[in-house]
Amino acid sequence: MSNIHYFIPQMEPWFDNEETSACYEYMKSGYFVTEFHKTKEFEKMICDFTGMKHCIVTTSGTMALVMSLMAIDIDIDDEVLVPDFTMIATPNSIKMMKAKPVFIDIDDTLTMSIDDAKKKITDKTKTIIYVSLNGRYNNIQELIDLCKEYNLYLIHDSAQNLQNHTQNNSFGDMSIFSFSPPKIISTGNGGAIVTNNDQLANKLRKIKDFGREKGGIDIHDEFGLNFKFTDIQAVIGIEQMKKLEWRINRMKEIWNLYYDKLSKCSKITMIYNNANWCPWFIDIFVNNFDKKTRDDLQYYLKENNIGSRPVYPPCHSQKVYKKYNNMSFPNTDKWTRSGLWLPSSTKLTDEEINYVCDKILCFFNEK
Ligand SMILES: *Cc1c(COP(=O)(O)O)cnc(C)c1O
Repeated sequence: MSNIHYFIPQMEPWFDNEETSACYEYMKSGYFVTEFHKTKEFEKMICDFTGMKHCIVTTSGTMALVMSLMAIDIDIDDEVLVPDFTMIATPNSIKMMKAKPVFIDIDDTLTMSIDDAKKKITDKTKTIIYVSLNGRYNNIQELIDLCKEYNLYLIHDSAQNLQNHTQNNSFGDMSIFSFSPPKIISTGNGGAIVTNNDQLANKLRKIKDFGREKGGIDIHDEFGLNFKFTDIQAVIGIEQMKKLEWRINRMKEIWNLYYDKLSKCSKITMIYNNANWCPWFIDIFVNNFDKKTRDDLQYYLKENNIGSRPVYPPCHSQKVYKKYNNMSFPNTDKWTRSGLWLPSSTKLTDEEINYVCDKILCFFNEK
């Protein structure tokens, strides 16, 4: 077995000469750096890729979520259904608006359980934020029907899912993306909202620009703040978008390489979503939902120069959600205590992936 003597990170953003040159050229052009033509071009690329009518870019995925809640006039005490298994930004955007997150358990597809969601709808429920965590989404028709039945908005937190968010795969009133460093493409920080709804799009554009129709006009007919992008980020984003198709194909290959080697291991489970699915991260789950083995494996991998990361703990268990700490979300609890993200950069070589798999099999004495 070959050995690797440098550290393999769990994830890293990937920029190269194209981004460097494009930034250099842009800076020489003398524009204001603030959002302008390049931002529009980047937004258009996202519209074309996703098949959506409108794209509004902003400072982060988190702010994209906050803006989407502002756009539907979320009010204090409105309830928002949100999966318990997600990045903390999802419930925090609700908390930011002083609305009430209502955590929903996941099912064995690792996404929001529609059955549990049904049970938690009340008169105060205003919207569902559905999270396609790690690019997985399931039971979408059921979800859409549920929102229709109860007249709820549907916001799709697709922060980890740009790669699957193509023409036929869009749903909901608004979807949001993130371009933070671990996502499939990055602009350092950044986020976007896509929608087919003209009114929401118009409102979102005002919300991010002090509530005005456009710069230079000081009439404010909406409440807005400043969540604008910069053209320098857009310049990077445009180059990253050109690489997206390649990264998607490579990511699918990477999953298959891991799957070929690891799915035969009797001590872990890999959850295949569907044949077209492109994951964001490679995730494995230690059998019998055993946290100690998961943590020992992470330590062992680190000793062998391999970065990995436990999946998010349940949101309801975090200190900021103290009121919810004693609640029970059985499925979220078991999957999150046994999940580990393996090295998942599209930069990984086949050799590195083989090395990671070999080490995992060694750990379990199945090599
Ligand atoms: C990354 C992420 C966010 C937050 O995006 P930022 O750009 O980091 O603010 C929100 N939701 C999910 C599911 C994410 O993975």
